[in-house]
Amino acid sequence: MIKSNCHTHTVFCDGKNTAEEMTLTAIDKGFVSLGFSGHCPMYYDADWTMKKENVGEYIKDVKRVKALYSDKIDVLCGIELDADLADINLSVFDYTIASVHQLHGKGKIYSVDLSPDELTEAVDVIFDGDWYKMAETYFSNLADFAISGDFDVVGHFDLITKFNGQTPLFDEENDNYKASALKALDKILDSKPNMLFEVNTGAMYRKGNPKPYPAEFMMKHINKRGGLITITSDSHCCESLDFAFDKMIDYCKKCGFTEAYYLTSEGRKKYSL
Ligand SMILES: [Zn+2]
Ligand SMILES: [Zn+2]
Repeated sequence: MIKSNCHTHTVFCDGKNTAEEMTLTAIDKGFVSLGFSGHCPMYYDADWTMKKENVGEYIKDVKRVKALYSDKIDVLCGIELDADLADINLSVFDYTIASVHQLHGKGKIYSVDLSPDELTEAVDVIFDGDWYKMAETYFSNLADFAISGDFDVVGHFDLITKFNGQTPLFDEENDNYKASALKALDKILDSKPNMLFEVNTGAMYRKGNPKPYPAEFMMKHINKRGGLITITSDSHCCESLDFAFDKMIDYCKKCGFTEAYYLTSEGRKKYSL
């Protein structure tokens, strides 16, 4: 397979390693390209994102590493956006990932991926305990955000399933759940047919989940609609940079895909799975 990852975090947000450490690991692992995707600053304070005043330093550091190792690997400077992003200039980035990590309601903001307790509280407080109303809102917000700009990748499409591997919180086979997810996928695919959906192994590494995002029924739907995919590790440390990439080849094939994409300085490129 072509080894590449466009979803990589560093010490500029909630990652453990520097861009240079991640790049050296990627070179060791035989990557052809590596894209950094620091969490964008939000319009409110958040401890897991880049600080607005540090975004310039982040770009500078990634560009320094890009120049330093340009004969060995193609390094890109991207950003992982959130629907709650602060007002920043996106044109300076090589690419963008559109994600949603929060739910809003009753005057509070809840993370969907921080802990099972926080997600449960959000469902209780905002949705009167209805997990499928929560899912409908999450997917709808993600679709609306993903089509609101000229973004390259949709981040961890079913992030709200993060804890189901350890603490089953809702039934992913529920008809309403599936309908909400498919409706959001269709909305994105109708409006942005060239959007890349990431096949993200982040929670397989961090949570020991047996499957990546997105779930199989979503992947099959993306495939049926002619949608495009890229395999990513949503890596926050050197060790996880290519976590379960070999398994993802089989997973993507099982879902009907024969090719995937990776990002380079000359744009996205396609390879056979
Ligand atoms: Zn994310
Ligand atoms: Zn991420």
